[in-house]
Amino acid sequence: MEAKQLILKARHVTVAGHISPDGDVIGSMLGLGFALASMGKEYVLVLPDNVPASLKFVPGVEQIVEKPKKLAATDLIVALDTSDPKRLGSVYHDNLDLFQSVPVVNIDHHITNNFVATSVILDSSAAATAEQIVDLLHEMSVPIDPTTALCLLVGIVSDTQCFRTANTTSRTLEIAVSLIERGAPLSWIVDCLYKALPVSKLSLWGNALSDIRLSGGIVWTCITQEALHRCNASGEETEGLVDVLAGVKEAEVAALFKEVPGGSVKVSLRSSGKADVARLASDFKGGGHPRAAGFSLECSLDEAQELVIRSVNRLLAES
Ligand code: AMP
Ligand code: MN
Ligand code: MN
Repeated sequence: MEAKQLILKARHVTVAGHISPDGDVIGSMLGLGFALASMGKEYVLVLPDNVPASLKFVPGVEQIVEKPKKLAATDLIVALDTSDPKRLGSVYHDNLDLFQSVPVVNIDHHITNNFVATSVILDSSAAATAEQIVDLLHEMSVPIDPTTALCLLVGIVSDTQCFRTANTTSRTLEIAVSLIERGAPLSWIVDCLYKALPVSKLSLWGNALSDIRLSGGIVWTCITQEALHRCNASGEETEGLVDVLAGVKEAEVAALFKEVPGGSVKVSLRSSGKADVARLASDFKGGGHPRAAGFSLECSLDEAQELVIRSVNRLLAES
C-alpha cells in the first residue's frame, strides 16, 4: 500500500525523527503533526534526542516526546528525514517488535537511503523532507494552515541554509512561496534561525576557528570536550560551524571532527561539488547528501583526523 493510503487509513500515527535533530526533521514532524490533527487523527511525535535549544521557537515543539522509553500501540509509524532505521536511535532499538508488527512509512531525501519499510518515499532531488511533506499533503488534499506552513518552512529554510545550498531548486522556491502565501512568516523564521546566536556558541566557534588547518584542498578543525566545557557550550552548538569552513576559498572539502563522550568522534563533511562526500560517508557506515554528509568513528580525535584526511585526499585525487 502507498504511504498516502496508509496515512489516510491509520487512526493513530507515531511520527519519529532522527538523532541529533535539526530544523528539517523538527519542522517536518510538527508540520505533519498539525496536518494529522486537522485530519482528526491521533498522533505522537518522538525523538531519540532532546530538541536543541535553538529550535525551541518552533510552534508545538513541546508536544515532542524526547527519548521515549517504550512506544505506545499505534496503527502506523512514519519516520521522517531518516535514511536508515539506526538513525532513529533508541526509538528504533527499544521498539523492534513494534517496527515488525505495524506498517512503517519512510519519507526521506538522502541519496544514501537504505531504509526498508512498508512504503518509502525517497526523493533525493528534494532539498528538505519538509518539501516532500508539502507534496504529500497536496496529494492527500489536506489544507495547510498558517502554523503548519510555518513549521514546514522552518524545515526548508534550515536544510537549505536560507536557500543557499546547491540542491535548492525552482521547485524548492515554489513550495516556499506557497507556504509564505499560506501565512508562514519568512523573515521571522530567518531571525529565529540565524539571529539568535548564544555567546557560548560564537566563543566555541572562535576557539575552533583559531585552530583551523588547511592541507591539499581540505580544511578542517576539531571540537574537544574540553573546549565545550571551557566555552560553557553544549554539543549542539557546533551545528553550522562546518558550513563556515565550507566557505573557505582554498578548499574543496571541509571537515569538522567533534569529540563525543565515550570514545567516539562525529565527523561532518562538506564538499564544494568536486568530491561526493556521501560516497565517502557511506564507506564509513554513515550517509548524507553529495555535498553534506557525516559519520561516526570509534577512535581518538588524532586517529580520526589521520584516517579521514587520507580518505578525502584519495577521493579528491579520483574526482
Ligand atoms: P551533519 O554533518 O551532521 O550536519 O550532517 C550532514 C548530512 O549527513 C545530514 O543530511 C545528515 O542527515 C547526514 N548524516 C550525518 N551523519 C550521518 C550518519 N552517521 N549516518 C547517516 N547520515 C548522516
Ligand atoms: Mn535532518
Ligand atoms: Mn533533511
